[in-house]
Amino acid sequence: MPSFGGVFVAVIIGTVLSMILKRVTTDETMKKKIRDHDAFKAKQIEEMKAIQFNQKLNQIKNLNIKCPTCGSNDVDRISTGKKLAYVATVGILAPAFKKVRSQFQCRECRYKW
Ligand SMILES: [Zn+2]
Repeated sequence: MPSFGGVFVAVIIGTVLSMILKRVTTDETMKKKIRDHDAFKAKQIEEMKAIQFNQKLNQIKNLNIKCPTCGSNDVDRISTGKKLAYVATVGILAPAFKKVRSQFQCRECRYKW
């Protein structure tokens, strides 16, 4: 039968050890979380940059194109991919939709032509 003092010391050591272990694990988890978050943020920034770049490119490309309704230069070219996706959604009714027949969309008044 171990002495009371021995058991007490063992319990204390056990508690301290488990606390340290828990702390280390928490630290690692936190670090991983921060790393993941950083990676996620970096990815988001990259995507934002790509979107902004595309928008600028579109604006340059569409510089000579004006909205027939409001005269704005801020127009979007409706890409073939977008149209195809739309056709896939609405199917046989697609030709009835202006979005499919139009080439451009104004970002100011949303007019399509
Ligand atoms: Zn417009």
